[in-house]
Amino acid sequence: MSLAFDDYGRPFIILREQGSKSRVRGTEAVKANILAAKTVARTLRSSLGPKGMDKMLQSPDGDVTITNDGATILEQMEVQHQIGKLLVELSKSQDHEIGDGTTGVVVLAGSLLEQAESLLDMGIHPLRIAEGYEMACKVATAHLDSIATKWDFSPEEVEPLVQTCMTTLSSKVVGRLKRQMAEICVKAVLAVADLPRRDVNLDLIKVEGKVGGAMEDTRLVEGIVIDKDFSHPQMPKELKDVKIAILTCPFEAPKPKTKHKVDIDTVEKFESLRHAEQQYFIDMVQKCKDAGAGLIICQWGFEDEANHLLMHHNLPAIRWVGGVEIELLAMATGARIVPRFEELSPDKLGFAKCVREVGYGTTKERSIIIEGCPNLSAVTIWVRGGNRMVLDEVRRSLHDALCVARNLVRDNSIVYGGGSAEIACSLAVEAAADKVVGVEQYAMRAFADALEAVPLALAENSGLPSIESLTAVKARQLAESNPHLGIDCNDAGTNDMREQNVFETLIGKRQQMFLATQVCKMILKIDDIIQPSQYD
Ligand code: ADP
Repeated sequence: MSLAFDDYGRPFIILREQGSKSRVRGTEAVKANILAAKTVARTLRSSLGPKGMDKMLQSPDGDVTITNDGATILEQMEVQHQIGKLLVELSKSQDHEIGDGTTGVVVLAGSLLEQAESLLDMGIHPLRIAEGYEMACKVATAHLDSIATKWDFSPEEVEPLVQTCMTTLSSKVVGRLKRQMAEICVKAVLAVADLPRRDVNLDLIKVEGKVGGAMEDTRLVEGIVIDKDFSHPQMPKELKDVKIAILTCPFEAPKPKTKHKVDIDTVEKFESLRHAEQQYFIDMVQKCKDAGAGLIICQWGFEDEANHLLMHHNLPAIRWVGGVEIELLAMATGARIVPRFEELSPDKLGFAKCVREVGYGTTKERSIIIEGCPNLSAVTIWVRGGNRMVLDEVRRSLHDALCVARNLVRDNSIVYGGGSAEIACSLAVEAAADKVVGVEQYAMRAFADALEAVPLALAENSGLPSIESLTAVKARQLAESNPHLGIDCNDAGTNDMREQNVFETLIGKRQQMFLATQVCKMILKIDDIIQPSQYD
């Protein structure tokens, strides 16, 4: 596409391959985009909240994912439409920045666009709508700050963190076990948190899992889990206060090089070779024992003979441990990686309080858990679940909860959930709109109405009469000036979210409003769509 000027200096656009392009302009373009975005947002609406529905998505190669996490649904839906993709990006950026609230942000954006459509029908220019939305967003986020409360916590008093994680988890597959899971997440975050600097490096928390067992068996391992077992089935399954040697040399006798030939033609020769080989193994095992090692972790394999001797000399060993794990183990246990047996010495050994092997039901699979390492701030959440789909969903849910806990460590302000914050902001924006003289006041009112989409969807998904529930709560918020009243999704008998302990982080909620507004503004500003005609 290029811009050219005719003889009178009037600009015009030259489209390359004009015939094969289609073009929509003006309000029609904005409306076409809004329609696409609304369709995507509508898909997610029914997944919002503690009673939200799950979606089942099948990938082209037949893998099935069952989830109610907004970002995952959109990612796997393989949205084709360009504007639809913007919403996918929207939910992703909420996921990257905050980690939670990925469904809510798309529902809000969809509703803002729906409202914008009616304003366009009234003849308001898209730019004025965008400006009105921007003003309304400022009012709403400022109001959020004013209704937010600070929740102080300390490593001894973590209840506020647990409660907030529980709100996140209540809408997920792990809802049944939300307290257990929330406690695991909070412990994991506090284990790696740098509280004075208010920082958490989530990379230090590994969420790993194995199919099998029940979700109840999910554990926090303050250490490393590796997917291996002890090299001999008769070795002890649990070692306490053990010194560890990490080797990158194989436990085997030196092999004759290809050019050498060994003729074994007599029994004596065979006996002496066997003896020499055995002695070699014994020497190796003895070297490890002399250095004081109680456990050998080896990057390579062992010969059966060596394995037997290790068992015989009460020296447990783990073989075929991958390079990455070797490095992690060396860092954690304080061991030096030893490339040759000759170099093994007591100062090169690492230490762990407990190393144990765990099995899974009747399967042959085993894992080794290494806990109590001196230099370790990394932890592993070891997830169990009946099948891969459940396992994946639990991992995604835990990711959200970990993010929420991290956000609270960074900024301990919270707002109340269940749509209460949205209703409070909606009232504030409506009040502010009355003071605006320009056309923007219509957009601001539309923004206020759009905010109500969240409580409406929450009520609808919980089987409550949506409009009635919303108007009742709104009236009460006004009458009692209580911004904590929201939708009672779980039929707990009270609308006060403070009593129900339904919290969300302030930064998460603020980010939702901010991002949704930005995307709407972006979509409203597009007035020309040019695309190859096969997409007609
Ligand atoms: P997201 O992916 O956006 O986090 P969720 O499906 O987790 O979406 O739903 C979050 C919404 O559900 C929030 O608005 C939150 O306030 C609300 N919510 C969570 N638990 C409850 C509850 N027990 N009662 C009412 N609302 C709740």
